[in-house]
Amino acid sequence: MQITSPAFKENARIALHDAGLQKALGNLKEGFPVKRSTAVARMPEFEQLRDEGTALKNHILENLDIYLEQFEANVIKNGGHVHWCRTPEDACKKILDICEEVDAKTVTKGKSMVSEEINLNDYLEKNGVEPIETDLGEYILQLRGDHPSHIIAPAIHLNLEDVSEIFHEKHKRPKSSDPKVLMQEAREMLREKFAGADVGITGANFLVAETGSTIIVTNEGNGDLTQTLPKTHIVVTSIEKVVPTLEDMTLFLRLLARSATGQEFTVYNTLSTGPRRAGDQDGPENFHVVLVDNGRSEMVGSEFQEMLRCIRCSACMNHCPVYGAIGGHSYGWVYPGPMGSVLTPKMIGIEEAGLLPNASTFCGKCESVCPVRIPLPKLMRHWREDEFSKHLSPKAVRWGIGGWAFFAKRPTLYRLLSISSNLFLRVMAGKKGHIKKIPLAGGWTDGRDMPAPRGKTFMSQYKSRKQR
Ligand code: SF4
Repeated sequence: MQITSPAFKENARIALHDAGLQKALGNLKEGFPVKRSTAVARMPEFEQLRDEGTALKNHILENLDIYLEQFEANVIKNGGHVHWCRTPEDACKKILDICEEVDAKTVTKGKSMVSEEINLNDYLEKNGVEPIETDLGEYILQLRGDHPSHIIAPAIHLNLEDVSEIFHEKHKRPKSSDPKVLMQEAREMLREKFAGADVGITGANFLVAETGSTIIVTNEGNGDLTQTLPKTHIVVTSIEKVVPTLEDMTLFLRLLARSATGQEFTVYNTLSTGPRRAGDQDGPENFHVVLVDNGRSEMVGSEFQEMLRCIRCSACMNHCPVYGAIGGHSYGWVYPGPMGSVLTPKMIGIEEAGLLPNASTFCGKCESVCPVRIPLPKLMRHWREDEFSKHLSPKAVRWGIGGWAFFAKRPTLYRLLSISSNLFLRVMAGKKGHIKKIPLAGGWTDGRDMPAPRGKTFMSQYKSRKQR
């Protein structure tokens, strides 16, 4: 996937003028947030569950090495293999090696954001292995040569007409705009792919240390066919997904479904525990887990450790006013929204992704809905500090902050500046009561009028209240 994060502003400008995208985003705003709040209202102990999930994740991160080694030992005991991969290249190469060992020509894939992160599809295609996405949203995107714009609803940026168009073009069937007909069409197309695949690749929502199991949650059941029909099942996932026990896993499943789609439980919760055993009616003969690091172990013990609590529910982006206005593609890489604004700079570098932590109003909604209480605004602020200290922020921002710091350290001057700015803005506004253009602040006034200051300044109100 091509990185376009440095062009965030231009991406956002285009997105704001894209009528189709704006229509699709309208559906998002009325969907997930409403369903989440209904589900949360039905569960009085939800806040307590969030506290337990947060504490458990903190415990896991403090003992990550122990739980990962326990997980590995149990996978091996069950007859499977674990492959540790530091970089995306290592992970792609390992997966290709496994495919080549079994002479695979086609692989079916369940939805996996980690596979997007390592750019697996491109790598497999370039090396003669055809990947076939089986999640409906991912399947539609693959037909279009497109990429996910959301971590649980990858094709959320599309409308029914877009799907109807691409199915008609690629399936060579009569055009339909009936969702049931389109769904049936996709099902028929994918059925033969499932049956003919040599390898099935899925992600994992969680890894269970005590049993060596992996679990995926889906609402379509495609993951089950992906992992049980082919002779080889590869799980590609990241190291922070490990949890100690099956019981711990159920705590996160309850948080995940409610925070993501407002369901009490996702429709399919499928556990894999090693390859097929004697007497099993189905299941793969070979079972591999590819564990991707890609910068995560560096986050342990750093100011970004809390980000590793993320269970990929998407609530932060579903409630983010910036994501809601411009959609996921504007962020220019795999992970969009507030969680992406923290993760992306870690994975592709702050030099490439410096605009993302600035793409936030800091309204705090993301943190308030995060099931594992990740302080996303605080983490974005860390990136802003990093950007500033590396001299990556634009000169105007640096001068602006430098000027502000100069006055902020001199209270008398600061007060004089506040009073004179107040007067200046009032004069500029005149009788109209609003200002159309402010010198050096075109970014604000190009798209909106600024209201004139009214009443007393904050400092004079503060002073008079203190004297009471
Ligand atoms: S940061 Fe929190 S809200 Fe956002 S996807 Fe992760 S767990 Fe969900």
